[in-house]
Amino acid sequence: MIKVGIFGATGRIGKLLIESLGNDNEAKLSCVFVRNELQYSIPEGVLVTNDIKVFLESSDLIIDFSSPEATKILLDCAIDNCHKPIVIGTTGLNDMQKDLMLAASLKMPILYATNMSRGIIVLNQISKIVASTLKESDIEIVEIHHNLKKDSPSGTALNLANTCAKARGLDLNKIRISGRDGAIGERSKDEIAVMSLRGGDVVGRHTIGFYMDGEYIELTHNATSRMTFAKGAINVGKWLVKQSAGLYSIEDALSM
Ligand code: NAD
Repeated sequence: MIKVGIFGATGRIGKLLIESLGNDNEAKLSCVFVRNELQYSIPEGVLVTNDIKVFLESSDLIIDFSSPEATKILLDCAIDNCHKPIVIGTTGLNDMQKDLMLAASLKMPILYATNMSRGIIVLNQISKIVASTLKESDIEIVEIHHNLKKDSPSGTALNLANTCAKARGLDLNKIRISGRDGAIGERSKDEIAVMSLRGGDVVGRHTIGFYMDGEYIELTHNATSRMTFAKGAINVGKWLVKQSAGLYSIEDALSM
């Protein structure tokens, strides 16, 4: 059995990871890291700690769904103390935190995915084909998430935009816009807008549109349950524990 430690265990995804591991034949929950008291009961025999070093030592695999600041603390400790495979699902990492992840991946296997669903991987692959085939199309992305989401745009939307920009040989940082307001003039040819809506309990919807004269394609992915992300993370974690040090994507794990 793979002993799994959960970082961000009291969060929306963390709780589902605990639930999902309760029904798994290959992996079991060994440890949870918490800053404060857990608000709910966890299975007997599971270590609850606020000491990251102890947390790392008690697990064969770490799954992180927390916050960018927390992921940084986790990676700092892992680099200095204990090189364990880590699946990172936390979104909104800045460049410094991504560099830290890269540095950590020289010492341990790390899989980073801003979306653990298989549907989004396929959407990403289709978007690459459409962006490079329909070169004249205007690309616009709209995402909606629940009102508690902290980062914007979503990591998934940024990833889709990046895929399309790369497919056209463009640098997303130079062409992405996140809103339109006022007398801003006509749309420039290469720009890609990534718009964020927030409301209610929406788990996550991403629509990528390719707009042309006389026709358009809109592709939409809807996440209807957060369990998709929890199960996806556990699934790729089982693959990650067999890998050597390096930085992996979800496509690597699923051979897609
Ligand atoms: P949440 O706010 O419900 O939970 C966050 C968890 O992280 C909590 O347990 C909290 O205590 C912990 N945490 C936050 N800051 C911390 C710190 N400084 N030190 C230690 N622990 C800390 O959030 P959520 O909805 O569970 O999402 C968590 C992250 O996962 C977010 O970044 C979210 O965008 C991302 N997410 C990723 C996917 C994916 O498929 N990759 C899917 C959904 C959410």
